[in-house]
Amino acid sequence: DAAGWRRACELVAAARRITVLTGAGISTGAGIPDFRGPNGVWTRDPRAQRLSDIDSYLADPEVRRAAWRSRAQHPAWEAEPGPAHRAFTELANSGRLRALLTQNIDELHQRAGLDPELVLELHGSMFGTVCLECAETGTMRAALRRVAEGDPDPSCERCGGILKSATVSFGQALDPEVVRSGQRAAMDCELFLTAGTSLTVHPAAGFAELAARAGADLIVCNAEPTPYDDQAAAVLRGNLDEVLPRLLSVPTVPNSSP
Ligand code: NAD
Repeated sequence: DAAGWRRACELVAAARRITVLTGAGISTGAGIPDFRGPNGVWTRDPRAQRLSDIDSYLADPEVRRAAWRSRAQHPAWEAEPGPAHRAFTELANSGRLRALLTQNIDELHQRAGLDPELVLELHGSMFGTVCLECAETGTMRAALRRVAEGDPDPSCERCGGILKSATVSFGQALDPEVVRSGQRAAMDCELFLTAGTSLTVHPAAGFAELAARAGADLIVCNAEPTPYDDQAAAVLRGNLDEVLPRLLSVPTVPNSSP
C-alpha cells in the first residue's frame, strides 16, 4: 500500500548501512524456480526435497546420481541476472550496502556486478564441489564432465570420498566463518532488507531477528506473507523485478550529522 511504500522509501533514503538478505524469489524472474512459491520445485513435487537432505545423499547412490543429473540441468547455467539483482549492485555503488547475505546458490548477484566481497553465500554455490571426506574443492563443470563421460556418481579424485556440490543441504552446518560475518553485518546496520525469501529456513531467517533486536528497521519484500511481516516497518508485496529498482533508486537524504 501507499503508506508502506512511503515508509520504505524514507528508510532507504535515510540509511547509510543497509544489510540485505535475499532468497530464491530474487531469481525467479531470471528463470530459476523457487522452492516454496506457487510454482516452486517442492510445491510441485515434495519428493524433490530428498535431494537436499545430507543423510539420503550419503546413504543412497541413486540420490547422488539424481543430484548430479539435476545439477547438469539446473536453469542457473542459462540464467542471466535481472533488474532485481542489478538493483543491489546500484545500491552498492552508492556506498551504502553493508553486506548482502544470500540463500541462493546461483551466483547471479556476483554476475550482476556486485563486489564478491559484499556477498555472503549462506548456502554455498552450485558452481563448486567439495569432498565430504577430505574437503578437497573443485568445479562443478569438472564434476559434470566426468558424469557426462560415464561416471554417474563421481568420487573425490584425491581420496575417493563422496563428492557433493558446494552447497549446504538439510542436515549440514553452514560455514561458521560466513555465519559470523553475517551476524556482524546484521547487527551493524540501520536497515535490514529481505527480498524474495519465505524466511522459513533457519538459521538464515534468524539474521532478520538478530538485526531487529540490534535496533535496525526491517523491510520485507516478498510476494507471500512471511513470519517476520509483523516486525517489519514496511512490507512490499509486488514483483521484485519492479519493486527493487523502484525502491533502491530513491535519492539519498544528505548526511547532516558529523
Ligand atoms: P523460498 O522458495 O522458501 O521462498 C521464496 C519466496 O519468494 C516465496 O515466498 C515467494 O512467494 C517469493 N517470490 C518468488 N518470486 C518472487 C518475485 N518475482 N517477486 C516477489 N516475491 C517472489 O526460498 P528461500 O527462502 O530462498 O529458501 C529456499 C532454499 O532453497 C534456500 O535454502 C536456497 O538456498 C534454496 N534455493 C536457491 C535457489 C537459487 O539459488 N536461485 C533457487 C531455489 C532454492
